[in-house]
Amino acid sequence: MYCERCHRLTEEEVCPECGKRSLRPVKEDDPCFVLSTGQIWADMICDVLNQNGIPFLKQGRMGAGMAMLTGIPLETYSLYVPYSHFEQAKEIADSLIAEPGSEEDGATEEEAFEPDEEAEEEEEEE
Ligand SMILES: [Zn+2]
Repeated sequence: MYCERCHRLTEEEVCPECGKRSLRPVKEDDPCFVLSTGQIWADMICDVLNQNGIPFLKQGRMGAGMAMLTGIPLETYSLYVPYSHFEQAKEIADSLIAEPGSEEDGATEEEAFEPDEEAEEEEEEE
């Protein structure tokens, strides 16, 4: 089922996110919530979605008011893709984020991310 309010897919009759009860079956072009994440990950995932020709919607969740309240200029982005591409996008996001060795220890890792697969082969196998 699909919650029109949160754009979430669920197997339940009630939205686990907002408790909405009148869920409806999802349609092919419904925007579906994939995940929310920080800007670095969001950019990276969007990049791969682009490469795969998957249309998506990136929405900053934190408004100016919220940022002022928390004092943290850290924006969270929610990614949505049409249901027809949902499984694919989910897999991409999962495989990127599940990458081993990238511990979440703050925002100092920007340089470690190289989303571009460049054909420079530096042989570091040994
Ligand atoms: Zn909902």
